[in-house]
Amino acid sequence: MSRRRQIYEGKAKILYEGPEPGTIIQYFKDDATAFNAEKRGTINGKGVINNRISEHVFTRLAHLGIPTHFIRRLNMREQLVRQVEIIPLEVVVRNVAAGSISKRLGIEEGEMLPHTLIEYYLKDDALGDPLVSEEHIAAFNWAGHEEMQDIAAMAIRINDFMCGMFAAIDIRLVDFKLEFGRIFDGDFSRVILADEISPDNCRLWDFNTGEKLDKDRFRRDLGGEAEAYQEVAKRLGLLQKEDDNSPGEVLDMDAHRSRLRQPVPKPKK
Ligand code: 5GP
Repeated sequence: MSRRRQIYEGKAKILYEGPEPGTIIQYFKDDATAFNAEKRGTINGKGVINNRISEHVFTRLAHLGIPTHFIRRLNMREQLVRQVEIIPLEVVVRNVAAGSISKRLGIEEGEMLPHTLIEYYLKDDALGDPLVSEEHIAAFNWAGHEEMQDIAAMAIRINDFMCGMFAAIDIRLVDFKLEFGRIFDGDFSRVILADEISPDNCRLWDFNTGEKLDKDRFRRDLGGEAEAYQEVAKRLGLLQKEDDNSPGEVLDMDAHRSRLRQPVPKPKK
């Protein structure tokens, strides 16, 4: 198996050079961090589940016409994605008050917000990802005006879709974080959804019991985080196959490239 070049190691994922130009392999780890990496731990099997949940969500979003970096899942812990230039913003969508907005503004956790809020945070660990305004984003050119319009429109559509998807399995989508990136085509660039969508970056509460089914179980030392992630995957219908709990694999580049050389089957009429 040929060696792969690691491009970047983040808190929950490792990025490797992909088998084709313009592609990246995203490897999902079990590592969990919180409070700007002050708290560290592992959640057994998290990487496998997040890979599967994120594949599920990104595939459905693509069906709605949301452009995403996701190409396909390769194995238990890896997915092939398009290489993007990451826009240095964390885009947080909130339906219900929780977490930092409750702390900052003194709004009780669980209170429905008057309407969905979109917030932007600068992706900068050294600064602790500070909240920024659209004026900051324009002034420091972190994203252009049209890019911000596209990002806000996509964030609202993603929220509408995900609220429905989770409500159908008795889960309230409290809030979540998105990341976007640019892809280039000559002189033009386009914004697409990147990163992942999983219980690592969403707040998911059981509709009936209020039980937290997301990373807050880890952040707040509630225990049962692996079971909570599994519960989300199970309700989404993603944990039926036995092999979904087996250890992760990595992509064999040579085998992958030889499969790519095989002719593509003709589409069915
Ligand atoms: P808060 O600002 O309340 O801490 O987070 C709002 C939402 O965005 C939560 O669903 C949280 O999981 C997600 N979020 C915000 N920042 C990060 C981050 O740096 N990493 C991850 N994984 N999620 C984040």
